[in-house]
Amino acid sequence: MSKKYNPYDNMLEVLDSAACMLGLEEDDYIGLKYPERELKVSMPVKMDDGSIKVFEGYRVQHCSALGPYKGGIRYHQNVDMDEVKALAAWMSFKCAVANIPYGGAKGGITVDPKNLSKDELERLTRKFTAMILPLIGPETDIPAPDVNTNAEIMGWIMDTYSAFKGYTVPGVVTGKPLEIGGSIGRPEATGRGVMIITLELLKRLGITAKDTRVVVQGMGNVGGTAARLLYQAGCKVIGVSDVSGGIYNPDGLDMDKISDFTQSGHLLEDYDQPGLKHIDNFELLTCDTDILIPAALENQITEDVAKEIKTKIIVEGANGPTTVAADKILDEKGIYVVPDILANAGGVVVSYFEWVQNLQRMAWDIDVVNAKLETIMKNAFEDVWQAANEKNTTMRMGAYMVAIGRLVKAKKIRGIFP
Ligand code: GLU
Repeated sequence: MSKKYNPYDNMLEVLDSAACMLGLEEDDYIGLKYPERELKVSMPVKMDDGSIKVFEGYRVQHCSALGPYKGGIRYHQNVDMDEVKALAAWMSFKCAVANIPYGGAKGGITVDPKNLSKDELERLTRKFTAMILPLIGPETDIPAPDVNTNAEIMGWIMDTYSAFKGYTVPGVVTGKPLEIGGSIGRPEATGRGVMIITLELLKRLGITAKDTRVVVQGMGNVGGTAARLLYQAGCKVIGVSDVSGGIYNPDGLDMDKISDFTQSGHLLEDYDQPGLKHIDNFELLTCDTDILIPAALENQITEDVAKEIKTKIIVEGANGPTTVAADKILDEKGIYVVPDILANAGGVVVSYFEWVQNLQRMAWDIDVVNAKLETIMKNAFEDVWQAANEKNTTMRMGAYMVAIGRLVKAKKIRGIFP
């Protein structure tokens, strides 16, 4: 029987390869192999029917060499400690690649929020905030949205934290509603970042947007926005999927219509248009396209998928969608893979802007936010592109070399306490 996929092992393997490529000794980067702090909490919550249910949650702080810990909170039935640990490490690397002054953290609750009423979701969120309260704060650890969490949930976190403090602390969490200190442009920032990075890669490869076909797995905040923005930039989006399955049309899909459809709460299995075919997840990931954007969960591009994959470019909208074994196959096939820690950094970059605006008690306008986002994403792309080309290696190795290089340097300058 094959070993169960473990995202933390996946992270460690990539970390070791990149450190080796940089010529580092193990002592130089051994600290990056262990999260600095891990918290597991058990939370009794009163359900609407009067019964009590106990939920488990996590907050992992991976590395604070470059600044306060930063990273989202995920609500999903498969959340466990190893997943949160991997996601926390990826946040450290992502912030380092983007060159923003943050460390990496992640949180999660093992729950399918679809099974909770809104009141139950609010009680669970406020309980979780109270339980992780000793760790979070605007100077220490700043949560944000991730899979199945949103602005409303961030608002409850901010309110609960503020209630304990006795005054309003907007900078404790990012991705909040605009009315209570959220940043304009934050909801679409991750998808916008994916679009910026995709167009930048096309430019380097001498391909124009209107000559490319795009397939997107996941129509959530990241995939939905990326698909729509790339469609508006002239790409032909030929396939998209959500939890209910995929839709495919080689002549192109109308992403404005489909976005409206999914955003109003509908599933793609109920979407119909002439010329459109309903396909499953494997067919979607392996269909004939130029760009594939996995924007759902980890462990999607496995060896089986990689062997059959036909795309020329993969841009990782999700965190950790590709296994190490699959990555090797993709490399042998000559497929360009833009890694998650670069491709999906737009979210945390605009989170950083939100936090800065909160600390300064200011609000920027959308042009400022989008222009600054574009500059940071393009600079990060250039750093990764150069690092990869210098060593004649993949963009994943390039991104990890940039990240590890910055983290190791910061750790060295700071020294080891005591
Ligand atoms: N959850 C997002 C990510 O994985 C955003 C994190 C943040 O904004 O802090 O990058």
